[in-house]
Amino acid sequence: MIRHALVPTALLLAVASPALAQRAQPAGEVERLVASFAGDTPLARDLEALTDGIGGRATGSPANLRAVDWALARFREAGVDARKEAFTMPTLWLERGASATVSGAGVSFSPRVAAMPFSAATPAGGATAPLLDAGRGAAADFARLGERARGAFLLVEQDELKDVDGLFREYNESAAIEVRAFAAGVAGVVYMGSRPYNTLYRHNVAIGSANTRPMLVMERDAAARALRLIRAGTPLTLTERIDLAPGGPYESYNVVGEIRGSEKPDEVVVIGSHLDSWDLGDGALDNGANAVMLIDVARQMKRLGIRPRRTLRFILWNGEEQGMNGSLGYTRTHAAEMDRTVMAAAFDIGCGRVTGFFTGGRPEIVAAVDRTLGPVRGLGPFTHVDVPLVGTDNFDFMLQGVANLVANQEPASYGPNYHARSDTYDKCDIQQLRLNAAITAALAYGLGNADVTWTRQTRAQVEELMRHSDLEQQMRTFNVWNEWAAGTRGRQP
Ligand SMILES: [Zn+2]
Repeated sequence: MIRHALVPTALLLAVASPALAQRAQPAGEVERLVASFAGDTPLARDLEALTDGIGGRATGSPANLRAVDWALARFREAGVDARKEAFTMPTLWLERGASATVSGAGVSFSPRVAAMPFSAATPAGGATAPLLDAGRGAAADFARLGERARGAFLLVEQDELKDVDGLFREYNESAAIEVRAFAAGVAGVVYMGSRPYNTLYRHNVAIGSANTRPMLVMERDAAARALRLIRAGTPLTLTERIDLAPGGPYESYNVVGEIRGSEKPDEVVVIGSHLDSWDLGDGALDNGANAVMLIDVARQMKRLGIRPRRTLRFILWNGEEQGMNGSLGYTRTHAAEMDRTVMAAAFDIGCGRVTGFFTGGRPEIVAAVDRTLGPVRGLGPFTHVDVPLVGTDNFDFMLQGVANLVANQEPASYGPNYHARSDTYDKCDIQQLRLNAAITAALAYGLGNADVTWTRQTRAQVEELMRHSDLEQQMRTFNVWNEWAAGTRGRQP
């Protein structure tokens, strides 16, 4: 999940000046690599197998473990050295069932609901409380409710989600609403579903595992009915039944496919996409498409016998949806390699065209990144946005001072299907995904061979980056600021 910052035009670097000469590689090598994605590679069949075959694969679930073994087998089948690397997930959150009943004078109906990740469970018989109209959850709404909010379920109205920008507005607003709601002592918050056609989806509780309340998303039309009844003067009560799998810390796995460098094997370029998904849909746009894309890029490199100067690691992260846990685990396990990790790139916005990269507030890397896209210039234009981003698996590399990228992609159908039951294979534009694979291959190849002039940032430099951007605000929205501030996450002084 990535947050789009509003970008001053000065930062939209069209990259006029080619800065760095690149050591010559065998003629035509990258061209053959890029061209290979026009062929009938197994990419689409892999996505079908991952989404239709395995389906939604929340970290900690049996489907997730199947996906880990499946991905490992795909890499190995292609002759790519591959392993699974363990890391610890702080808590298990898996919904086993959720239902609700709305009742009032002569009224009773059972809307479809989905528990929000990190929601608390209810007693088996359910939890019942008054259901109150919280409007949009603004401060004025809480003032209007006053003491009545204490111990009540608050129903929050939301706009229908149309695009990715709406998604980020939703994240920012819900974080603020939940601060107000918890301060008011509510029993729980119920969001009117923002997706069309009453589609249910997973939306994390902003404070994560620190949350102690039952939290729900209610199908849109039923929530609108309840609000109309309340506003017409019919008092309602809500009974929620949320059943969760019990959950302490547990072991999960990243899948690492590696092409060892031919000249500088100790220098590493990380190209990552998370393999886990939420469980209502089949995790096609988020993020199965980009996971199978990386498998195919490694596969084609191996097939063509390509070995760039430095080592390429194609990593399928786990535990991303719960807070980028797999990439955090990797930066801890590979702490000794962070100085030699020259770049970490993340792909995590579905199947829309790659339009360039978010370059993390590191102007010194932009020209080199753009140079790598030379062989696929025809798939551009590419525009790079030099701002730091929170929300996907570039994050912990950024906190470690490692240069990092997030692929910027056209939204396509990403927003409305995000974390939703509708995130299925048919939502991915396979032809565009193949073109994205060509772009990703050119980036990986180029970074694997480039002359690197940038270095790892110190903690002080990362703090400087935070002062000159909205990184702190983003980190607070995604509930990862405290760990940094406490020194338990990120580069040490
Ligand atoms: Zn994602």
